[in-house]
Amino acid sequence: MEKRELVIIGAGPAGLTAAIYGKRAGLDTLVIEKGKPGGQILITSEIENWPGLVTESGAGLAEKFRYHAENFKAEFRTATVMRLEPQANGHTTVVTDGGEIDAMAVIIATGAYFRKHGCPGEKEFTGAGVSYCAVCDANFFEELEVAVIGGGNTAVEEACYLTQFASKVYIVHRRDEFRADRLVVERAMNNPKIVPVMDSILEEIEGADTVERIVVKNVKTGEVKKIPVDGVFIFIGTLPNGAFIGDSVKTTEAGWVITDQNMKTSTPGIFAAGDVRDTGLRQVVTAAGDGARAAMSAYAWVVEHR
Ligand code: NAP
Repeated sequence: MEKRELVIIGAGPAGLTAAIYGKRAGLDTLVIEKGKPGGQILITSEIENWPGLVTESGAGLAEKFRYHAENFKAEFRTATVMRLEPQANGHTTVVTDGGEIDAMAVIIATGAYFRKHGCPGEKEFTGAGVSYCAVCDANFFEELEVAVIGGGNTAVEEACYLTQFASKVYIVHRRDEFRADRLVVERAMNNPKIVPVMDSILEEIEGADTVERIVVKNVKTGEVKKIPVDGVFIFIGTLPNGAFIGDSVKTTEAGWVITDQNMKTSTPGIFAAGDVRDTGLRQVVTAAGDGARAAMSAYAWVVEHR
């Protein structure tokens, strides 16, 4: 079986930072990623809170992270991890669709994905007007009207981004107050193309071949109205990418991986970093910080068990 000192699963900011620190510490480091390296920031329009870069596109920052990790000669492999099997000797067998790897240390850095809404029409119109990625799809809505669902930072920031293309952007939020940061909300509310639709829940997405309108219900008045839109962008939070985790480490009920402050999971030799963790803040900068700490904990573990 292939043997490795450190296997990092996921090549977002947490995994790529762990790769930089792991290689820099001299560990034989393999990064496994099933898609394109970069993680969620690949589909983030603009990052304005990575220190030192006043503003940068998500894809641009992801590219810099990857280049940096490659510069330290971290090895990358495209594969899907199916299972983790902790062994009695403290190693973990990483079962992928391309074979098994015996790893002395593993860092789970698989991040999170966008939650689905579940209303009628969402599934049917995904790719036909329903989207979870403004950067990917905004250009399809040039001079058209769209709706954003959600009231967090992602919803409000991506609504602002969408105004560069769409003629009008409704933000449909279920409460009378946004969850997003005050500055982000202020910027959106000063944008004449943004129309907030507060206290409202999305009941249905309607159309023929593509989205034509949304049906929203005001939770305070009970009023139901139809808003004509060509696109619906759903940003209602995230869930962990951890189908392969099983019971290899302890997680919360929702599947977020529980770690201590050194990124150690409940299983010796398995660490976790970034958005997949049970943590109060999911940011690029916290993911990167987690990645560094996880790599140093993994280094200490490998040195002790070599
Ligand atoms: P979030 O902060 O969890 O916000 C999710 C939003 O969706 C909330 O407004 C929530 O409403 C709403 N929502 C949840 N379920 C819903 C449902 N079934 N129907 C309708 N609305 C629903 O998620 P996020 O915006 O994706 O952000 C995730 C994390 O990344 C957060 O910690 C956020 O601060 C961070 N983030 C930071 C930045 C930045 O700093 N630049 C940018 C993006 C994301 P309620 O408010 O009523 O619960």
